[in-house]
Amino acid sequence: MKYLLFGLLAYLAWRWYTAQRSNDEPAVQAPPSPAPSVNGPEKMVSCAQCGVYLPQSEAISGVGELHFCSTEHRHQYSQASGQAQGEDHRH
Ligand SMILES: [Zn+2]
Repeated sequence: MKYLLFGLLAYLAWRWYTAQRSNDEPAVQAPPSPAPSVNGPEKMVSCAQCGVYLPQSEAISGVGELHFCSTEHRHQYSQASGQAQGEDHRH
């Protein structure tokens, strides 16, 4: 009876030990989970005014190849480019 208990304990200890090892192994060779890099064929464009990147579908298309993050920046850019032709006014 005594040996039976000892054997049971040894068995449990062995199970625990192997469980610990099997827990460590996958951590080392973690399978590269298929990252959801499915951003699709979305093209990223940068705002011509502030330079922030955003999907082209969400961008405000401006004149020619220009894109903007908002209509406000498109307005600012058109104003800035219109004034940039003149002299450089600074306060
Ligand atoms: Zn912007």
